[in-house]
Amino acid sequence: MLLTLSTTHSPATDLGYLLHKSPFRPQSFELAFGQAHVFYPEASEERTTAALLLEVDPVALVRNRRGLAGEGGALEQYVNDRPYVASSFMSVALARVFRSAMSGASKERPELAEQSLPLVARLSVLPCRGGEAFLRRLFEPLGYGVTATRHALDETVPEWGGSRYYTVTLEARTRLSDLLTHLYVLIPVLDDDKHYWVGDEEVEKLLRHGEGWLAAHPERELITRRYLRHQKSLAREALERLAGDEAPEPEERARVHNDEEATLESRLSLNEQRLQAVVGVLKECGAARVVDLGCGEGKLLKALLKERQFSEILGMDVSVRSLEIARERLDLDRMSEMQRRRVNLLHGSLMYRDKRLAGFEAATVIEVVEHLDPPRLAAFERVLFECARPNVVVLTTPNAEYNTRFESLPAGTFRHRDHRFEWTRAEFEAWARKQCERFGYSVRFLPVGPVDGEVGAPTQMAVFSR
Ligand code: SAH
Repeated sequence: MLLTLSTTHSPATDLGYLLHKSPFRPQSFELAFGQAHVFYPEASEERTTAALLLEVDPVALVRNRRGLAGEGGALEQYVNDRPYVASSFMSVALARVFRSAMSGASKERPELAEQSLPLVARLSVLPCRGGEAFLRRLFEPLGYGVTATRHALDETVPEWGGSRYYTVTLEARTRLSDLLTHLYVLIPVLDDDKHYWVGDEEVEKLLRHGEGWLAAHPERELITRRYLRHQKSLAREALERLAGDEAPEPEERARVHNDEEATLESRLSLNEQRLQAVVGVLKECGAARVVDLGCGEGKLLKALLKERQFSEILGMDVSVRSLEIARERLDLDRMSEMQRRRVNLLHGSLMYRDKRLAGFEAATVIEVVEHLDPPRLAAFERVLFECARPNVVVLTTPNAEYNTRFESLPAGTFRHRDHRFEWTRAEFEAWARKQCERFGYSVRFLPVGPVDGEVGAPTQMAVFSR
């Protein structure tokens, strides 16, 4: 398996300083699974190419996997594609052999390590699950020109068609450390396999190597899932951290708490009344495109889908687990094509400006604000009213005054342990009016649930319009 790196930066031989490997002295490295060799097929001022040749020893692989014999059948342990293709072995070799270059350090050419250089990487055999289209979706958003030649499954039997192996050239003006990091992360993603056990530390590794590019990559979700070998809980954690925010409390615990809150309010079937009230307001204002911010497990989305008025429905939440449940609840994967076009789920955080939230006629924020601590609430205000800026916002939150009417709720506690506050009617109204002044909205307030003469209704709702 061969990887070459070329530059036409002048003088091109500086590549040797950046890689910390002399163009004039071949070197070999012992790795647990074989050997890596570094040498330069060409080294002139105009153009220099470094080659990393990886020799994976299939017998050493089997030997190092004592106790795992039999996995995949005895023959497959010895006869497989691993020695011949770029895979996670290549990533390990890159990190070992070009460690300083990958971290962007260079003793002799520190300023060059910081610069974008004309670079070309060529991988002799790269397995691409998802084909050339997926290869392009990975590298093109990072600014690479991609050339790929597909290999036949068997050259002597052309009717068998193409294999999943490609010879790939990637070309860009970029920093060498960025190129190496992209290869390090994306080679195993394309291969969709890893030779070692993937645990918690892989999340850290992915986030570290993904810094500065992964969060904004359009394929970040698939990259993360594949990199972490489809281990859902790890992928969830990584995606949440990439969104710059973590689910407000660990997910399993959150579910128990949501159930506690639901039990507390169920005697009033408050949830049902809340949904009806929200849908009622949205129908009245005539909105067709609605975004539900902090949609959780998708209860409102489901109610909106039943109404034909709503032609574009987007649910957004920071919790990947909740979105997975929403996906199942809505039966998204089995929906008719027409229904499917109406609804979408989006993973993101309300702490960050997000272009994908703009252009909606109405936004709903149902039982979400009380989960946000003060700095988060402040960020959310701008994201909603200044950036997403829908015509109508329907927002609900508990009315703290009503809590004395829940017999089982000890005095002075919140309805849900993750609530950061619960507002009285006066507090909520003062907050809402302040947002109107700042962002040019007007607001009206509606009670949801049975109104108590003294303490008001259990849920309070604000309808903002501009
Ligand atoms: N609106 C839903 C869920 C309410 S629970 C319903 O009425 O059933 C609060 C939701 O807000 C949770 O799903 C939580 O994950 C989400 N949330 C909390 N902080 C968030 C943030 N910063 N960005 C996006 N969603 C957030």
